Formats: sequence, structure tokens, C-alpha cells
Amino acid sequence: MPDASNSSAPRQLDVAIVGGGLAGLYAIHRLRGIGLKVRAYEAGSGIGGTWFWNRYPGARCDVESLEYSYSFSEELQQDWKWPERYGTQPEILKYINHVADRFDLRRDVQLDTRIKSAVFDDKANRWTLKTEAGEEIQARYVVMAAGNLSTPRVPDFKGIQSFKGKWYHTGLWPHEGVDFTGKRVGVIGTGSSGVQMIPIIAQQARQLTVFQRTANFSLPARNGPMGEEKERRHKAEYAARRAAAMETPFAIGGHPKPTQKTLDVPEAERLETYEAKWAEGGSISYLYSYTDLLVSKEANDTASEFVRNKIRSMVKDPKTAELLAPKDHPIGTKRLCLDTNYYETYNRPNVTLVGVRSDPIQEITPTGVKLASGATYEFDALVFATGFDAMTGALKEIDVRTTAGAVLRDHWEGGPLTYLGLMVSGFPNMFVVTGPGSPGVKTQMIASIEQHVDWIADAIDHLGKHQLDRIEPTPKAEMDWVHHVNQVADSTLYPLANSWYMGANIPGKPRVFMPYVGGFDRYKKQCDAVAAKGYEGFSLSRHDAAAARS
Ligand code: NAP
Repeated sequence: MPDASNSSAPRQLDVAIVGGGLAGLYAIHRLRGIGLKVRAYEAGSGIGGTWFWNRYPGARCDVESLEYSYSFSEELQQDWKWPERYGTQPEILKYINHVADRFDLRRDVQLDTRIKSAVFDDKANRWTLKTEAGEEIQARYVVMAAGNLSTPRVPDFKGIQSFKGKWYHTGLWPHEGVDFTGKRVGVIGTGSSGVQMIPIIAQQARQLTVFQRTANFSLPARNGPMGEEKERRHKAEYAARRAAAMETPFAIGGHPKPTQKTLDVPEAERLETYEAKWAEGGSISYLYSYTDLLVSKEANDTASEFVRNKIRSMVKDPKTAELLAPKDHPIGTKRLCLDTNYYETYNRPNVTLVGVRSDPIQEITPTGVKLASGATYEFDALVFATGFDAMTGALKEIDVRTTAGAVLRDHWEGGPLTYLGLMVSGFPNMFVVTGPGSPGVKTQMIASIEQHVDWIADAIDHLGKHQLDRIEPTPKAEMDWVHHVNQVADSTLYPLANSWYMGANIPGKPRVFMPYVGGFDRYKKQCDAVAAKGYEGFSLSRHDAAAARS
């Protein structure tokens, strides 16, 4: 087998994996398990993906630790001890590194390696990947595990390079950390990252100014140490709990399915329910209060108004409270944030909220920020919590094409097209993990990763066992799936929000609802049924490279 380290011949693999995060690592483990030669290529200098890059103060998962972890090894899930209800970034990264060592995954991860292009040779039936450093890799299959929120985006503000202080993006946080003590800090963005970070920076900074374009709903996380009894009980029923999670829309167990419609319940009882969920903390529980919160605007209004009233009661200055109370989208239609002391932070004398919806940021000046009205703010440091080119950004950064003339960037020009979020028509033998058209980002992500990778491994195994070597979705199956994804989204309130689910945070990006919101449970059943019917909607074939050449 030629080795790129001592020869110029391309490395030959069964499967090339793009990404060394939670998805890429599980893909190594699972695909190795069926005897394939695999290797993952990771742009970072360490494994962990999202949890490697997003080191901003307060970074923490908003799904409970006992759920947000791999389920593929009973020993692993029994052994690992999560110290808190929600894992911090350092704790989750430690866990990922433990998994890599425990399952000997590192030897198949190549760090500091960004894939620039992936070209499928239609005749040879092989993918050739090229790295930024010029290395070539050939593989029978490619698994794109490059993440949905892995292309950080700083808005194209005029003058940004002229800023004399230091500036940071939450998704590219310096490893050595940042000390804001005594500094005047500006934070732009109030999504999940901003909401987690703002209370921590407020404790350090001399003065913190938050620029908010859209007020977001945030619920209290109610984080705390992992109770011993809770952990013991959970671990005693781990397998059953994981199985139960598979039967839910968010792939998260432990929350009884709602049975009632919101407006069928008397107001006083409804408020009691919201109050109890608010006290319990977490977002799933709240959105699971009633069956119709994400499909009926009238129903949703009751849950939205409850949270707006909480904000009004927590924030002392009425003007700031009103600015923080979201009114332009139903609760849950943008990613619901979880926080610790977010709203209370605005009661601190050193914190100011500036609404930039009506008076947008016009430019970054050498000393700070200037708004369209001419108002200026001076800072020592600026933090962009401005999000990512979500769901399609990472794949569009790679020049993916085939010798038959298909170009992924062109194919997705009007929005991403996939079948089941798993494959793209015209791009044989290329799988995508939790991509657009899949429910991944709307679920407990690790559960979706495992489900996707298991499906992919089974598909490759099936091909091998039937002497087949090519799989791709039919254009019709792809169009039907995209249509279904849109239809399901249109039957909900999700499209009412300008969210990254819609590509709305990136100027010029097509407004298409990208995730599948029909629920993990329904999606998994559909994937299983497709496989059981001999991969319905896919065309499977045997490609004889020698015959094709003659
Ligand atoms: P985000 O949700 O996309 O938020 C970006 C923020 O920047 C928004 O408030 C946005 O305003 C603002 N913004 C963007 N461009 C702007 C401009 N030109 N002027 C003013 N404001 C601007 O990004 P994120 O907070 O990094 O979160 C992304 C996703 O990552 C989350 O939704 C979640 O799925 C995941 N995440 C999860 C956790 C967790 O598990 N706890 C933590 C962090 C992130 P608009 O809303 O008006 O666009």
C-alpha cells in the first residue's frame, strides 16, 4: 500500500472521512469495525470539532450530559462520570479525547489537514481528495463529517481591519483564553454563544456593551453538580433510556410526550405547567409542554408570552427588558437558548444593551463601533458571537465535483438538495453526516451522528456483500425528499423566524429551510425502511473500472 508520507503516490483508502469531530471519530470506529481501511482528515490541530474550536467563556452543551454522549459502548457510558448536569466545553473535549484513546482512533486521524477538493472519477469509480498542503488521497467512499456549525462567520463590516484593539469570534477562540479584566468590551450577537458568554464576560470586563439585532428566547439551564442518585438511576437504565430516546422527535429521552393541545387547557393550569418547566430548566421540557406549540401560532403565543413576562420580571430597567423580550418570532422557531443569569446580567451597572435592529452597525472604527445614526462606542476588545455559515458552509468550502460534470456548489446554488440528508444525486459514494435534509441539528446531535454513521456503514457493507460498488440517490428520490422536508417545515411555525435553519443569517444565501423537522423518530423509521427495501430511491450498481476503460 503506497504511503503519502514516503512517496508521492496517493494514499489508498476504502473510506476517506472529512472531519475529526464527534461524527468523524465515530465513523472511524464503526467503519473499521466492518473491516474497512479508513482515515479522517481534520483541519484543527486537535480532535473534537465544535468542542475543539468553541472555547469562548461559558461554552457548554445545552443538552444534558447523560444524554449528550455516545451510546455505542455500554462500558463507556457506564464508566464516564459527568460532573455536572450540562457538560462544559473543556469537559466534553476531555471526554472526546478519552473516547479517541479508549478506542484507538487517533492513529487514523490526520490533524492540521484541510481538504480543499474532492473529485469523483466516474470511470475509475474513486474519489480523489486533495489537502491544502497538496497531498492526494484516493478512496472508494467519502464520508463528509465536517459539521453544521463549523464555518465561523464575521459579518462583512466596513473597517473591521482598522480596529486597534483585539477582536475574537466565538468559534475561533484562542486556546490560551482571553482575560477581559478591566477592559471595555463590545459583544455583537445574542444567539446561543452570546447568551452563554455575556454573563461571564460581564463579571470580568470594566464595561460590557452588547449589540443585539434580534432578541432571542432563552430559558434557565438550572445547571448544577450531577446528583449521585440521578446518575445511578440513569446508568441503571441506560440502554432502555437510549432506546426510548430513539422514539422521540429530538432523540432525547426522559420527557413524557405531551398529550394535550395548549388551548384545551385552562389558562391557570397552563401557567402552572410553564412555571414548573421554567423551574426545572432545559429547553426540551418546555417545548414539550403541549402537542401544538410548534405548529399553532395561537398556542405558541401563550408560551412566548410567559417567557417575555419572565424577562420583564427579571430585568429591572423596563426599556432594556422590552428590548430583550423577543416579539418577532415564535418561541422555539429559532434555536432556543439556555442560560445561566443571562437576563439578570443586564441589571449590572457595567452592562449596556444596544438594539441594532433599528440602528444597525455601520462600521467598525479604529476605536470601536459606529452605528448608522452616527452613535459611536469605544472598546478595548470586540467579540463576534455572530454565528456560522450553517449546514452548507463546510461542504461548499470544499470543491466537490465529478468528472461527469457535477459540481456541488452549482447543484446547491438554490439551496441544498439531498436524499434523506445522507447523499446527493450525481455524487456517487459520497455520504453526508447530519447534513441538510436530516434532522441532525434539531436533535441530540450525537444520537443523530450514530444513527447516520450506522446507516452509512450498513449501506457500504450491503454493497460489498452484493458485489456492488456504487450507490447514489436517484434525482427523483432527492426531489421528493426535498419537497417532503419543505412540506413538513411549512406545516410548522419554523419558517416564521429568520434563523440560520433558513440561511437567513448570511446575506445572499438562499432562503430554504434546511433541517428536517419531522422528528428523529419518524426520520429513523424512514431510513430503516429505505434500507429494508433494498435502498429504495438509491441506484446501486457494480462498476467495472477495467471494462469502462476499454
Ligand atoms: P447564531 O445563533 O447564528 O447567532 C448569531 C448572532 O449574531 C445573532 O444574534 C445574530 O442576529 C447576530 N448577528 C449576525 N450578524 C449580525 C450583524 N451584522 N449585526 C448584528 N448582529 C448580527 O450563532 P451562535 O450563537 O454561535 O449559535 C449558533 C448555533 O450553534 C446555535 O443555534 C446552536 O445550535 C449552536 N450552539 C449551541 C450551544 C449550546 O449547546 N449551548 C452554544 C453555542 C452554539 P440575528 O438573530 O438578527 O441574525
